[in-house]
Amino acid sequence: MTEAKTEYDLVIVGGGMVGSALACALAGVGLRICILEAREPQRGWPSSEVDLRVSALTRASQRMLEKLQVWPRMAEMRISPYTDMEVWDAGGNGRIRFNAAEIGEPDLGHIVENRVTQLALWERLEALPNVTLRYPAAVAELVLDQRPTLLLQDGDRLSAELIVAADGRDSQLRELADIGTKGWDYDQHAIVATVKPTLHHQRTARQRFMPLGPLALLPIDDGRCSIVWSTSPTQADELMALSDAIFCARLGEASEQVLGEILEVGPRGLFPLRLGHAETYIRPGFVLVGDAAHAMHPLAGQGVNLGFMDAMTLADVVIEAHGAARGIGSMTTLRRYERARKGPTMAMLGAMDAFKRIFSNEVMPLRLMRNLGLDIADRSGFIKHQLIRRAMGIAGDLPTLAR
Ligand SMILES: Cc1cc2nc3c(=O)[nH]c(=O)nc-3n(C[C@H](O)[C@H](O)[C@H](O)COP(=O)(O)OP(=O)(O)OC[C@H]3O[C@@H](n4cnc5c(N)ncnc54)[C@H](O)[C@@H]3O)c2cc1C
Repeated sequence: MTEAKTEYDLVIVGGGMVGSALACALAGVGLRICILEAREPQRGWPSSEVDLRVSALTRASQRMLEKLQVWPRMAEMRISPYTDMEVWDAGGNGRIRFNAAEIGEPDLGHIVENRVTQLALWERLEALPNVTLRYPAAVAELVLDQRPTLLLQDGDRLSAELIVAADGRDSQLRELADIGTKGWDYDQHAIVATVKPTLHHQRTARQRFMPLGPLALLPIDDGRCSIVWSTSPTQADELMALSDAIFCARLGEASEQVLGEILEVGPRGLFPLRLGHAETYIRPGFVLVGDAAHAMHPLAGQGVNLGFMDAMTLADVVIEAHGAARGIGSMTTLRRYERARKGPTMAMLGAMDAFKRIFSNEVMPLRLMRNLGLDIADRSGFIKHQLIRRAMGIAGDLPTLAR
């Protein structure tokens, strides 16, 4: 007996933030889309609880989410704008501050819980025609020939003109497509948690660079902060094992009490950090987006922002190819996507890596130089302006939905 084969124009594997945003962007153009997600989405939680996973969303990502009509729903749940950013070096006096008013903007970006962005996108998808959501779904096989096909573990077969892998850093689909990655472990783990400090954060995102890794304190609208504390695996294990009271005391020291004492900490989560970059983003009828294509250090909070720009660039090329009756999965179409995305991604991966190495180096001349560098950048209006525009994701060529 042969199993039924369901035909789509496009199948997206992975309904995380990036895969869902892509489906939302493509839903209105008449393509038959299926999105396969391994997990049941989280639909509700106590409003006093802050998700362990938060992201600093850039202005470019905000514009995209507004155009996809999910920003108001996200704001209803919780978004936390930040107006200032402060970065300093534990090994000296170098410090740089950014303020939104300096460039005539109301804020520099927003700290948003991942589940908020995720749920708003899912609710939107559920309301859109032409999109089939399947969860929990598990892929067993990928066949990339004339018409790419996925065999699911429940025996179903799906075929499409284009299969998109949006299944995250450890992408199963990337492996099934036999695409290798280049990269290495950062030899750092990130501890994430929500904390309550004595002082109000004043809507300032702070990052202190220490020899073992950076500590970020990200402001949540109710006065709490979400922390991302990157450090050696050994220290991370030690910090994870501490009682809440001792962890708070250690965090207070590590943050130089910039927000006073840390009064409370919620549950802690641990993420091993790794740089990974796919050797190619495309095969005929197959494409990688988001963390499946590139995974990086969270120190500049760029991972999902880059992923959103991948999704919007791919939406642009697919919509154009579809309108011109050219193959959406052809290499001509997909090369345009890859050409547009590889450059900015490699630049960001390189910059994040250099940052991490420079700031974890204790050699005296380098330490002096980085402190001097921070001070010079802080005093130079031009450099600062450029840095802010980059951090907000509004420099350079942007896909249609992010403009
Ligand atoms: C500690 C930390 C802090 C971070 N902070 C920031 C930040 O401030 N700003 C920022 O921009 N980025 C940040 N990032 C990075 C950001 O979280 C990622 O870049 C982002 O989650 C990538 O989104 P994605 O949709 O590509 O992948 P994922 O979020 O990994 O989503 C993949 C989805 O695919 C599903 N899936 C996986 N395998 C399969 C399969 N075989 N079949 C079907 N479904 C599957 C998963 O269930 C999931 O829903 C941070 C990362 C870490 C670790």
